[in-house]
Amino acid sequence: MRFLPVFLDLRTGPVVLIGAGDLARAKLRLLAAAGARVRWYATDGNHDVSALDAADAARIELVRGDPLAADLRGVIAILCAGAGDIGTAMSARAKAVGLPVNVMDDLAHSTFIFPAIVDRGDVVVAVGTGGASPVVARRVRERIEAVLPARIGDLASFIGRWRKTIHGRIPEFPLRRRFWERVVDGPIGALVLAGRGNEAEAALKEIPDPTAFAGALASGQAEGRVTLVGAGPGDPDLLTIKALRALQDADIVFYDELVSPEILDRARRDASRVPVGRRVGKPGIGQDAINKLLIEAAKSGQRAVRLKGGDPFVFGRGGEEIEALREAGVAYSVVPGITAGLGAAAQFEVPLTFRHEALRITFLTAHKAKDAESVDWSTLTDEKMTVVVYMGMTAAPSVRAGLLAAGRSPQTPVGVFARVTRPEAQAVVGTLGELPALIEKIDGGPAILIIGDVVAHSAPWRYQNLNHVISELLEAAE
Ligand code: SAH
Repeated sequence: MRFLPVFLDLRTGPVVLIGAGDLARAKLRLLAAAGARVRWYATDGNHDVSALDAADAARIELVRGDPLAADLRGVIAILCAGAGDIGTAMSARAKAVGLPVNVMDDLAHSTFIFPAIVDRGDVVVAVGTGGASPVVARRVRERIEAVLPARIGDLASFIGRWRKTIHGRIPEFPLRRRFWERVVDGPIGALVLAGRGNEAEAALKEIPDPTAFAGALASGQAEGRVTLVGAGPGDPDLLTIKALRALQDADIVFYDELVSPEILDRARRDASRVPVGRRVGKPGIGQDAINKLLIEAAKSGQRAVRLKGGDPFVFGRGGEEIEALREAGVAYSVVPGITAGLGAAAQFEVPLTFRHEALRITFLTAHKAKDAESVDWSTLTDEKMTVVVYMGMTAAPSVRAGLLAAGRSPQTPVGVFARVTRPEAQAVVGTLGELPALIEKIDGGPAILIIGDVVAHSAPWRYQNLNHVISELLEAAE
């Protein structure tokens, strides 16, 4: 991010606009609609503003003379649109006195740029691409337009009118925030969005005890809670809407080493972020310590998110955490995530079940050779069973030995899928007999193994076979 979006208060002083033609007039319309006072130097002498309505036109000061000699005292920004070389010269002047300047379509001479705007009254969304592509910005704007309720601006102004009153009645910030969240997310917000502002007004007035409405405990403190959230295998677009919401509402996020930075980025800006996982080469803080942190956060009234790779209940120790929370009397909930095995299956086209071929799935973990030894492999001999192995990289030789000893064919197809759903995802396929050699080809974890005939349907398998066929054909041709 090179350009920080900020909102300029146009009532604090005039904006100088230099230029002519359609480009300048488009900027004039935008500024006028936003309520700006504009000092306009029309470089072609055409100062016609009859297209604007009278009130807007009244705020436009038409200036003749050399803009390079303009008095810039009190001016809040300078815009050059269709101004030719004057734009470049004006940019130098503006920079010299520290005034923000935009020269249209000239990033090098601009110190600020215009975003694509979604304008819903008090709700304004600015979309920027750092000047790289206005077309992309407009496409993003279209998508935002499509999801924002039409009356979202009314909702903001409704709250704006009540802010002071509620501030007086709920002085504590966290509780006040929850009060407004409940208004926005609940029936009162729905009334405003439905255009029934009067009823919303009445409903808000009738709230007998705003503190209680905000969900305060008897002590008057905000009620804390813990949400266990599955972050999925890496691609942030695989977060559920519920997960996103929990992240957006969080005061504090305790995250695992498997959680990708792009996902952490989706948490509320002001939320504290606390790593609690194992780091490469460093041990984690331990499960008991994590449980304690979660309980403390909730008891101090915070909304804590425990963010875990994949799904919290698939080899994620989520079960132990909720047991501790239950014991401590802390409110909690669980948001499922896409587990690594399902992420790998989808990305590399491994149908985990297949009619007549694969009728069962087993998810198992083999963290260390010791774990692998304690697995009862004899239960995994069914050829129509797909086996998904978590944490199986180092124990791969034991996984292979166990399955072979139990009678699975060394020809059974196997896939090793690393860093799935991330940009650097990798797949290596082969047979159970070759398993340790397959692992060698992986450039770093995390990785998951999928074992079973269904792997032969996968994209990398088909690709590998195609290559075999092609090289055989080439050999035959020679
Ligand atoms: N709760 C997680 C699993 C945690 S155990 C889930 O549901 O996915 C950690 C193991 O998960 C890793 O050793 C690896 O086997 C697997 N894993 C997690 N993320 C992965 C990813 N992006 N690609 C491949 N395997 C992954």
